[in-house]
Amino acid sequence: MKPKQCTKCGMCEPDVTFHKNQSRCTLCRAEYSIEYRRKNKIRIARQQAEYQKKNSDAVSDAYVKRLLLTQLCITVAEVTPKMIEIKRKQILLHREFKKIKNHLRERTE
Ligand SMILES: [Zn+2]
Repeated sequence: MKPKQCTKCGMCEPDVTFHKNQSRCTLCRAEYSIEYRRKNKIRIARQQAEYQKKNSDAVSDAYVKRLLLTQLCITVAEVTPKMIEIKRKQILLHREFKKIKNHLRERTE
C-alpha cells in the first residue's frame, strides 16, 4: 500500500501519523485546533455558557450516583434506583430553594 500523504504539510507515512479517515497528519491537525481555539475564544466560551445554561436543570444518573457514593460512603453496588430518584429530587429541590433565596436577596438589596 502507498504511504498516505498529508494534504497540508505534504509529509508521508511513516514520518507522520494520521487519525482514521483524516487527510491531514496529526501534527497539522493539532496545530489547526490550537489556532482554531485561539481565533474563536469568544465564540467557544459563549457556546460553553449556553450549553451549561441549557443543561443546568438536568441531573444525570452519573452525577447523582457520585454524590451518593461520597455522601453516604457506600459502594456502587449498594446504590439503588430508588436512592438515585430520591437524591435527584433533593438536588432539584435544593436548586429551586437556592433560586428563591437569590430572588429574595436581590429584592432586599
Ligand atoms: Zn501534516
